[in-house]
Amino acid sequence: MSESAMKVDAHAVSPPLPSAYGMSLSDWEEWLSERGQSKFRAKQVVEWIYRKRIASFDEMLNIAVPLREELKKTFSMELLPVSKISGSEDTTRKFLFRLEDGRYVETVMIPASVSFVGERSDRITLCVSSQVGCAYGCKFCASGLAGFTRNLTAGEIVSQVLTAERETGERVSNLVFMGMGEPMANLKQLTKALEILNGQWGVNIGARRITVSTSGLAPQIEKLAQVSMPVRLAISLHGATDEVRDRIMPINAKYNIDRLFQSLAVWKESKKQKITFEYILIDGINDDLEQARILAKRTRALRAKVNLIPYNTVEGLPWERPSEARMQAFQSVLREAGITATLRIEKGHDINAACGQLRLKEETSEGLIVSAAAS
Ligand code: SF4
Repeated sequence: MSESAMKVDAHAVSPPLPSAYGMSLSDWEEWLSERGQSKFRAKQVVEWIYRKRIASFDEMLNIAVPLREELKKTFSMELLPVSKISGSEDTTRKFLFRLEDGRYVETVMIPASVSFVGERSDRITLCVSSQVGCAYGCKFCASGLAGFTRNLTAGEIVSQVLTAERETGERVSNLVFMGMGEPMANLKQLTKALEILNGQWGVNIGARRITVSTSGLAPQIEKLAQVSMPVRLAISLHGATDEVRDRIMPINAKYNIDRLFQSLAVWKESKKQKITFEYILIDGINDDLEQARILAKRTRALRAKVNLIPYNTVEGLPWERPSEARMQAFQSVLREAGITATLRIEKGHDINAACGQLRLKEETSEGLIVSAAAS
């Protein structure tokens, strides 16, 4: 083997360093205490990373040089490289991130002036991805079409937020886990990322401003309910009966609607925030008014609210959006039953946020990427 080939091989096998952005305060305390350092040192480290947003361990001026060297050898402080930003300052901006293994994920920044999940908002919301692709194969979703590749690490999730803030100079006020992937299927990394994103020592986004969306992984909903952080929960429901959900959401074969609602009752017991049901209206599939009546009953029992979302056509999928009159009739059934139900049929700047609704197609040197916001 030639010398240059050996050099390439040696480079190829060296594993990437773990990201410093995937470390919680307690992780830092543990790592530093193993090196004879005090808890106070961990506070200094996170202050440099999250308050001062330094780009290199060399900038940690109150940390002794030998420790800085060890940090450099052990962790990476690289944020995710941005492959492309699309959109302009007064509208949504989409970030295409290239991961270390050459895969891509998308993050969407939704500015103050844009309607989001049914309300006018004066906040800046970031829609983050939790996986590359998705294994759950919902019939209306482009992420499902692409299949599952891998979970994102906590560092990759946190890095989406930090990079979006760095690139735009804006402070993210609200976070939604509705980008690519099913966040509950990546619960360990999700929980770690939430700890870092919510921590006052960390990114410091209030838990009530963080929404985790899921297609209905009941046991994971119950597990996250036990985490003492008042994050909000959104369910990608899209059908009020097993018959309808079975047709469009394979997850229902594993956790049917009764099992899902059992887990929501557990969630409701431990969290005060309202649960939101996301319901994409698809012509002839789930827009029957009988579905609306059943949905109203189920929603009332949990004192939840409903976001009705007109279906957006996905290339390669057969579904269509119902007529405006049909969607309004569906909403009326819910409203007459006393349910808070929003329906957004405005065009242009409006963002439809739920499973499979924010999507992106990008042509790169490696071919076509199709991603979709999800659970
Ligand atoms: S809708 Fe959500 S859970 Fe279903 S395939 Fe798409 S990303 Fe996965």
